[in-house]
Amino acid sequence: MLTYDILIVGSGGAGLYAALESRLEEDLHVAVLTKVYPTRSHTGAAQGGVNAALGNRDPSDTWEEHWFDTVKGSDYLADQDAAELMCREAPDVVRELEHWGAAFYRTTDGRIAQRPFGGASKPRACYAADKVGHIMLHTLYEQGLRHGVDYFNEWVTLDLIHDGQRCMGVNAYSLRTGRLHTIQAKAVILATGGHGRIYWTRTSNAYGNTGDGSAIAYRAGLPLKDMEFIQFHPTGLRRSGILVTEGARGEGGHLLNGLGERFMERYAPDKMELGPRDLVSRAIETEVREGRGGPDDEAFLDLTHLGRERILERLPQIRQLCIDFEGVDPIEEPIPIKPTAHYSMGGVHTDINGCTPIDGVYAAGETACVSVHGANRLGGNSLLDILVFGRRAGRHAVEYARRTKLGAMPRGAFEEAETCLKELMEGDGKETVAGIRRELGRVMSEKAGIYRHASGLDAALADLEMLKDRYRKLMVGDRSAVFNTEMLAALELRNMLTLAETVTLGALARNESRGAHYREDHATRDDEHWLKHTVAVQGPGDHSTLSFEPVSITRFQPEARTY
Ligand SMILES: Cc1cc2nc3c(=O)[nH]c(=O)nc-3n(C[C@H](O)[C@H](O)[C@H](O)COP(=O)(O)OP(=O)(O)OC[C@H]3O[C@@H](n4cnc5c(N)ncnc54)[C@H](O)[C@@H]3O)c2cc1C
Repeated sequence: MLTYDILIVGSGGAGLYAALESRLEEDLHVAVLTKVYPTRSHTGAAQGGVNAALGNRDPSDTWEEHWFDTVKGSDYLADQDAAELMCREAPDVVRELEHWGAAFYRTTDGRIAQRPFGGASKPRACYAADKVGHIMLHTLYEQGLRHGVDYFNEWVTLDLIHDGQRCMGVNAYSLRTGRLHTIQAKAVILATGGHGRIYWTRTSNAYGNTGDGSAIAYRAGLPLKDMEFIQFHPTGLRRSGILVTEGARGEGGHLLNGLGERFMERYAPDKMELGPRDLVSRAIETEVREGRGGPDDEAFLDLTHLGRERILERLPQIRQLCIDFEGVDPIEEPIPIKPTAHYSMGGVHTDINGCTPIDGVYAAGETACVSVHGANRLGGNSLLDILVFGRRAGRHAVEYARRTKLGAMPRGAFEEAETCLKELMEGDGKETVAGIRRELGRVMSEKAGIYRHASGLDAALADLEMLKDRYRKLMVGDRSAVFNTEMLAALELRNMLTLAETVTLGALARNESRGAHYREDHATRDDEHWLKHTVAVQGPGDHSTLSFEPVSITRFQPEARTY
């Protein structure tokens, strides 16, 4: 059996930082297990920047201002002690990453360059063209290789092995061979990214962002927090949902409606295009609903006035994506855009060290909810979150692994996973993964999207029940062992169905509007009843039960949120 001190599931920024931090202790055995090749993780698609109050562009910037922006951006649902820690540690962690080799763009005097981002009072997003995630991911991967981290690439984790109190390892399936393996570990860090793919066709997320870690944790009895909060990014490409970074507006891009008006004047007269994402996405939807959208119910992002040189220097990838996927060159004409499901604020309930209620099980990055983003994440704060909390989870796991012995494997753990695979492989129903997945995306986009209503959410829950039933009649057409990607998709779909239910239940329960969660039937924020986190746990009959947790408020009292 494979045995490690610390096993990290996921090779995005959170997982790779945790792995590197753990392997700095040279006597510990550390491995990363990932269902895609490490450099294909979604972190590599991050475009715009990572926040840290370095003050390189505006010397008056401070971590306290960053903290306040984060709390205000979260619509006061972030835990303020956790957000404080993230903003305080930001300059150190970004500099550390730079020292590992990340090639940020520079100011003329050689310091890390920074650009304005949505919801931020100062320009503090550190960037490298529109490819910051790419440089972060490659830096962390090569440092992991250098420091002797083991990698299991194209391995899919199915479940956690635990006895309710402590962690013993995971079961994972090798895509290359189709074989199931048990990996024993003292500590397991789940760093599997978000679940934006539950909105299948209207998302900026990679195909693999199916929320596996959150669903695995949930099935292990761990609580999921604030699942109703899904961020829609204002500027996805019209047809594909592929992202156009907020950095494009940071560089001075304008949003136009179908009549050519800069409509943000109506919604955020001070911040205009650089309002927070929840507000800008709703503004676009409202323009379209009121008949001021383009012919395809889209809006437009106009960069033409920035000029060829600046677009080529600062936004080269964006330009290419627009040409390849929309046939539009942003140097010449405005880009057609629609809001796109982008970020999962909710996830596995952890403390500031990534710890969960099961000893030795950690979660970090987008799959976790610490919570620093509350009801709406600010652009540039997620790359920061994965660095700060990936590093912290790695550090804590080291301490834990040092004082723990490997646990004896409980009986039946392997057999359960084996049965799950066998049932999928032998299923002879008529349903297909693609059919169910498309319907899931439609239900979630139409009934649990930017605008929500109790009746729609109720209907969505009934639809999800039906989809779960259809899943039981699934047929995986490909019966081969080697690189069976249909099997992988079936495993992912199970996770997405589980998480979609927790998102919808939370949205139905939360009778108010806060951040990214907007209820047409409860259009205002209700601090008296709803200044609290929702916590979903798997209950009897495969259904969620909800409870609530207080929000930590240490300095900033909730105020009306205007921009
Ligand atoms: C297009 C785009 C642009 C963005 N731009 C920015 C930005 O400019 N600034 C910012 O702050 N944020 C940005 N974000 C958000 C940010 O990039 C992500 O939140 C962050 O990178 C998530 O990192 P992660 O390490 O948690 O997970 P990911 O990078 O998503 O990695 C998840 C990993 O988990 C692995 N995995 C998943 N399931 C399994 C399983 N069952 N078994 C084994 N492995 C598994 C995957 O293989 C992958 O390696 C952007 C997001 C997108 C989609």
